[in-house]
Amino acid sequence: MLYSWRTEHCPECNVMYNWHIEKLYRLIKIKTGLGPPLVQCSSCGAHFKTDLQEWYQFSIGQKIRYGILSFILSLIVGFPLALASLEIYGRAVQINDRFFPDSSLLFFITILCALPMMILQMVRIELSITRSESNNSSPMSISFWNWQINLQFYAALLCFITLVIFIVLALFI
Ligand SMILES: [Zn+2]
Repeated sequence: MLYSWRTEHCPECNVMYNWHIEKLYRLIKIKTGLGPPLVQCSSCGAHFKTDLQEWYQFSIGQKIRYGILSFILSLIVGFPLALASLEIYGRAVQINDRFFPDSSLLFFITILCALPMMILQMVRIELSITRSESNNSSPMSISFWNWQINLQFYAALLCFITLVIFIVLALFI
């Protein structure tokens, strides 16, 4: 199996709060594991433990792994976004109706489109440090729509939408 995915639920009311791809090719674990170890369910208010850790609890190895995974995730999101953007741009100015744009331009736009995700991953570190340093003892309230807890879902959704836009434009219009 190419990948395995998993959902996580509140132990009290069973509401789903997370969807993520856990492993590629059974071996490569791709979840970064950054987040609050204790959270509060936004549906029923129960407190429960997660398998996440805050940034200060990460070892050097986990931090490096977080950096590498963030970079790869950013490129995975950036590539279809770049394809769709170039395809839309090409149609808008009617200079480019080829299936694939020039590869160096595609590379440059992919890096550009990868930047927002890279920045979000850095913001997550910043928010984790802020959580650890604050004296606020009430745990973070979470739901499925919490972007910090469920960033992979949003990334996958964005990839899907941009790929559909690209394929429809490139093949049918
Ligand atoms: Zn709950």
